Amino acid sequence: MMKSVNPVTGESLQTYESYSEKGVEKIINSVDKTWHHWRSTSFVHRGRRMQNLSSLLKTKKEELARLMALEMGKVLKEGIAEIEKCAWVCDYYAQNAESFLENEIIKTEASKSYVSYQPLGTILAVMPWNFPFWQVFRFLAPTLMAGNTAVLKHASNVPGCAMAIEELVRDAGFPENVFRTILIGSNQVEKVIRHQAIKGVSLTGSTPAGKSVAAIAGSELKKCVLELGGSDPYLILKDANLEKAAKICASGRLLNAGQSCIGAKRFIVVDDVYPEFLEHFTHEMNNAYFGDPTDSDSTMGPLARVDLRDELHQQVVKSVSKGAEVILGGEIPHRKGAFYPPTILENVQAGMPAYDEELFGPVASVIRVKNEEEAIKVANDTVFGLGAAIFTKDAKKGETIAETQLEAGCCFVNDFVRSDPRLPFGGIKESGFGRELSVHGIKEFMNAKTVVVK
Ligand code: NAP
Repeated sequence: MMKSVNPVTGESLQTYESYSEKGVEKIINSVDKTWHHWRSTSFVHRGRRMQNLSSLLKTKKEELARLMALEMGKVLKEGIAEIEKCAWVCDYYAQNAESFLENEIIKTEASKSYVSYQPLGTILAVMPWNFPFWQVFRFLAPTLMAGNTAVLKHASNVPGCAMAIEELVRDAGFPENVFRTILIGSNQVEKVIRHQAIKGVSLTGSTPAGKSVAAIAGSELKKCVLELGGSDPYLILKDANLEKAAKICASGRLLNAGQSCIGAKRFIVVDDVYPEFLEHFTHEMNNAYFGDPTDSDSTMGPLARVDLRDELHQQVVKSVSKGAEVILGGEIPHRKGAFYPPTILENVQAGMPAYDEELFGPVASVIRVKNEEEAIKVANDTVFGLGAAIFTKDAKKGETIAETQLEAGCCFVNDFVRSDPRLPFGGIKESGFGRELSVHGIKEFMNAKTVVVK
């Protein structure tokens, strides 16, 4: 049984019957059968449906944002922006898939030689609840446009979103079994990965989930793409525009109530500008108004579940017991729901959860360093490597540090890290491997086939 629970009230919104093993088997076989036809359709045929999907998303954005607000607590404004971004990624791949997957001619002594990109088959997507539409659409759009088919195992707390996505794809005119949702728990994923019709796995989620899925996929020699956790460092150098940097850092930390893999998590500030930055940053963090996500005044909703909020608070408490200081927030509010206030921890050091682990909520870890060199060292002193940002008025210096010094998959200068359909997205180290979005993303589940004609 799966349940949608409103994180504001704790009330159960709807229950869903989990799919039986037999039911899942039937769906996978149908999706696989459909692949044999879908793979030979033209890009124009697929693109038309993808553009219908984009239009449907735009038409239903308010309704879908409301569904997210109720199921996982996202404020309506952010929910609408998320759906608009999903429409964008559909349009982007509808327009570009064909050129991205054109044959690549390679001159040899043969009369013809080239690389042709051929779809692999049915791909399993295991997805998280934090951006319940965007995470799925950034997988779905390139996957279907490339001629693959897909099954989705969404996070257990967003079954309503999972079913809505399946319905949207069907209503856009895609064949019934090109894309299907399977309502199963994480303990049933292994069996699905091992199914002979499943040709690859894309997982977005935590590092432990990624390791488990990668081990199973590895034992079956099935390709996977893993978008995992992060503890993105934001470096504030002494020549940074501190006011602007503080604004960007606070937005980067509080987006989606801090539940973003590429959320700004560790703020590494050089000594010279530490007090001034902290003053601006505290002001910005304190400006957030947290409340009911369906209330237009709320800039931040609750966390997605009470247990996740409690886990976050334990990380704060443990960090404090090891010497961190709370300068904002840090207490569970006396109200119903999975709320947690914007929180700033100072004196954060190695050995504390706030330094070593991912904090998946509105808690900022501030780390004071002597200079730029130490800032880079601390930034890289993590098992993660998803995103990183650097703030300096010397754009050239920032760019050099971003390009060559920071150990992360996406590095931004003077801005917060964000995903964009045109840019590859993904991490290194324990943040995973493989890339989504752009031309890189659409090639992940393709056979780069060499064809030679003598
Ligand atoms: P999660 O607990 O890892 O769950 C993600 C998905 O994986 C869910 O569908 C979950 O199913 C499933 N899952 C969990 N354990 C599994 C296992 N052992 N085997 C197979 N499937 C498993 O993560 P979450 O709490 O939903 O999301 C937060 C995490 O995702 C954070 O660490 C965040 O940084 C990361 N994330 C990364 C990105 C990125 O692009 N890099 C984007 C968003 C989020 P159930 O719900 O049924 O447990």
